[in-house]
Amino acid sequence: MNIKSPVVLRPHHLLCIKFFVGRGYSEEFTANMYKIIADLNESDSVKIAFSADALCAACPNFLGKTCKTQEKVCRYDKKTAELLQLDDGKTYSYKELKARLEEKIFSQNKFDDVCRDCEWANICHK
Ligand code: SF4
Repeated sequence: MNIKSPVVLRPHHLLCIKFFVGRGYSEEFTANMYKIIADLNESDSVKIAFSADALCAACPNFLGKTCKTQEKVCRYDKKTAELLQLDDGKTYSYKELKARLEEKIFSQNKFDDVCRDCEWANICHK
């Protein structure tokens, strides 16, 4: 991938990336996560997609077009996008999005409103 290209991400994956500690759904998923984080840090560019993204591409829960836990992940996307004021298909600076996470979710104590019922919550919502 051209490192100048934006990384395509669904909204709630900004949160998954923030709390990534080297664990994931599979070895392939985890390796892809490391690559995506490196790409984000180099390109500083994120294209928001309200659908499958660069992380889903290497996930065992990805069913081709949708996620095995589609209702849940779409709910997380909707809430994250609402709080961060993100538009589908729009490109943002990754640094700016990280600042928005702090300003509009963590400092407002809204993280639990997004994804408290996620199976990884014992890592992120400590
Ligand atoms: S397929 Fe589902 S569980 Fe896997 S990365 Fe995408 S949204 Fe997350």
